[in-house]
Amino acid sequence: RNPPPTLHQPELWSDDFNDFICKCLIKDFELRPNVLDLLQHVFIKQIVGREKILQKQLIELIDLNQQIGVIEKTRGGHMKTQTDADEVEDLATLEVLDEVRRSTLQSRYGRDQIYTYVGDILIAVNPFHKMEIYTPQYTKMYIGAKRTANPPHIFAVADVAYQSMVCFDSGESGAGKTEGAHLLVQQLTVLGKANNRTLQEKILLVNSLVEAFGNACTVINDNSSRFGKYLEMKFTNGGTVAGAKISEYLLEKSRVIHQAAGERNFHIFYYIYAGLADRKKLAHYKLSDSKTPKYLWNEHVKLGPDIVNNTFYKEQFDAVEQCFKVIGFTLEELGSVYSTLAAILNSGDIEFSPVASEHQTDKSDISNISVLENVASLLCIRSDELQEALTSHCVVARGETIVRPNTVEKAAEVRDAMGKALYGRLFSWIVNRINALLQICVEDKGLNIGILDIFGFENFKKNSFEQLCINIANEQIQFYFNQHIFAWEQDEYLNEEVDARMIEYEDNRPLLDLFLQKPMGMLSLLDEESRFPQATDQTLVEKFDDNLKTKSFWRPKRVDLGFGIHHYAGKVIYNAAGFLAKNRDMLPADIVLLLRSSENELTRKLVTHPLTKTGKEAERVATWKLGRRIRQPGEPGDTPCHPRETTNMRTQTVASYFRYSLMDLLSKMVAGQPHFVRCIKPNNDRQANKFDREKVLVQLRYTGVLETAKIRRQGYSHRILFANFIKRYYILAFPAHEEPAVTQETCSTILEKAKLENWAMGKTKVFLKYYHVEHLNLIVQQAT
Ligand code: ADP
Ligand code: MG
Repeated sequence: RNPPPTLHQPELWSDDFNDFICKCLIKDFELRPNVLDLLQHVFIKQIVGREKILQKQLIELIDLNQQIGVIEKTRGGHMKTQTDADEVEDLATLEVLDEVRRSTLQSRYGRDQIYTYVGDILIAVNPFHKMEIYTPQYTKMYIGAKRTANPPHIFAVADVAYQSMVCFDSGESGAGKTEGAHLLVQQLTVLGKANNRTLQEKILLVNSLVEAFGNACTVINDNSSRFGKYLEMKFTNGGTVAGAKISEYLLEKSRVIHQAAGERNFHIFYYIYAGLADRKKLAHYKLSDSKTPKYLWNEHVKLGPDIVNNTFYKEQFDAVEQCFKVIGFTLEELGSVYSTLAAILNSGDIEFSPVASEHQTDKSDISNISVLENVASLLCIRSDELQEALTSHCVVARGETIVRPNTVEKAAEVRDAMGKALYGRLFSWIVNRINALLQICVEDKGLNIGILDIFGFENFKKNSFEQLCINIANEQIQFYFNQHIFAWEQDEYLNEEVDARMIEYEDNRPLLDLFLQKPMGMLSLLDEESRFPQATDQTLVEKFDDNLKTKSFWRPKRVDLGFGIHHYAGKVIYNAAGFLAKNRDMLPADIVLLLRSSENELTRKLVTHPLTKTGKEAERVATWKLGRRIRQPGEPGDTPCHPRETTNMRTQTVASYFRYSLMDLLSKMVAGQPHFVRCIKPNNDRQANKFDREKVLVQLRYTGVLETAKIRRQGYSHRILFANFIKRYYILAFPAHEEPAVTQETCSTILEKAKLENWAMGKTKVFLKYYHVEHLNLIVQQAT
């Protein structure tokens, strides 16, 4: 078996092909490596006489090559070592440090090459404009292709992930995580060719659907994810998509009732408003076409007509409804979803006024009864009961139930709590329903690919409880990334007694302890304070100050209720105003009981069915796995990763549910081989072709990308057991019929014979750099 002929051996070309290729060359085609691969095939296959088909494929490929328009020098096979830093596709191959790497990213970005590898990690710089690199041709090009055969691309990640794996998108808000997750799912549905085409379509639709409910316009990103999403795609043993499951984390419910300056409510509210207007159905859902519901007020939208006449919103509403239908929601369910949304919007307009009576001055009354009646009718409950539940509450004292009036403020709080709860539960219900509809034929034995897309790190002018939770989640993901890239790698060197220079990296574990440790971590302190009825946000901050003794926490002077945290990604000043109320997240029992009496099935379901699982199992798995894999020798056992108490769902605070969610997420993360996509935001203005060097460097630094490049270069990406190594490569040093002993010496002999340097020998494994493996494979191919 001779090595395959190459373009550099024209004597091997047949006449037709010669002619054909010459034409290509005259036209100055730049042949991409996979075209080269195919050409080589063509010459071999020609002998068997199948040139016609292959010729057609070749023409297609060359066509595609032209369309791509990426000008790339023809590479001589896969042996080419890249020296020009600007041309490098894998930063881990570079010997020079930071500055060059950054300019590599910049010059690639300048050429619209938004993807770059750092070893096995993909960096994606947000292009902020539509790119023609996600077409079916590209999909095809990346299926089963060698990594070096094509330029870096998110589709290549999908390809490697098409084994049991977890993909992580990380990066700050607006960096491109959600888009990236979409693209991964898109490519994966193609890879897992379902004979069931509709299932494929449904999985793609699910993303858009949950994003209509869970995303919103923020000052940073017009389509910012306000929840964490973990999408699991299930495949049969044969590799066909068989189902999907979404888990949602920590929806920012407070957005329903209040949006910061320049921000908006969840997309769906605007969509439904415009969509129903378009169908002349506003009146049916008790909405007005001239007056904007309070929950939707902001500086962009002041008047009903602004929303009602918005064609984009109308189209989106049609799209959302179509998604619902295709996925399998019934018309009745849809009607109930719309009624619930309309009820939430209407409820925001319920107003209260103080009632001065002889005995009580703190009573409140509803000043616009018609609005109250609308809400009651949409939720299919009695309006007098709703009025009572809003303006009074029951207390049990000495075995007796006493009704106490609510002040105007208290009544408004109850109203808002109801809006938030209804929306949060509606969101969970939709997600659960989708999961039920997509579990068509899932056997647990098959493959499972998880794609995690969470809200990115946030640092606004004013940061509240929501930002704290979001940033803690990012802190946890970063910790896992560090563990995976640095800690476990270094552990292996130690175990194998390989002398590898240790890479210094920023360990954010102290920060995780600061937040999650029990009983003195920030979340525990918050929960403790939330249990005291007399506590205030002021006493909370003081409690933090008294107990959190680390330089990562400080109290800025002259900021009331302020406290600062030095996160891995930068310093953030939080404002504790509202922390206790947000953490308690109480929905008064009176409201729950009332909603349970609804004549609408969905409304009843929202308050009766346990929509969230108890999570004990997830916690157990996470505890066990992380306990085994993360704890360093000699380290005390109690770490944020070992929650010991089980969560009581009934009296659960947001903080404790959040902690459980993180554990649930971790249990999924540690279950598979992870793949990381690090999304980089090139500028703060959402502008195309603008590369803010400082901004990018900061992100590269705090995400540990620079250290990753270092460890990937200095470290050994391949660790092969002696037996496997010898089986694969013995032919390079021993006669084919011989079976050399499985020893260090045999391995060394092979490596020396192959003239390789800089490898390391462990106790049971050979440690190789990735270019060693490429070289070995090549010479084995030539030798056999
Ligand atoms: P994140 O989820 O990280 O907050 P998004 O994925 O929502 O960020 O991306 C923000 C915006 O950036 C998108 O709305 C889109 O306009 C743009 N964008 C992100 N990734 C791409 C891409 N691969 N190609 C073109 N535009 C992109
Ligand atoms: Mg997002």
